[in-house]
Amino acid sequence: MEASQRTCIWVVVFLLGELQWNWIARVGWRFFNAKHNPPACKQGGYNLTGNVSGTCPECGAACEQMRT
Ligand SMILES: [Zn+2]
Repeated sequence: MEASQRTCIWVVVFLLGELQWNWIARVGWRFFNAKHNPPACKQGGYNLTGNVSGTCPECGAACEQMRT
């Protein structure tokens, strides 16, 4: 195997590893964020975790859905 080919393979391995770390960091951040910042009503601060209607059951205000 030529040296240039070996270098090429290492570049690919490095890039794949980088993508995986990116993915792990993003999933980890989402997990952390969901745990520490649950979706809440902007008006009353009502916890909207698991809310599917898009409206706050407490005050009836339209609430933004948490992006997944
Ligand atoms: Zn509310």
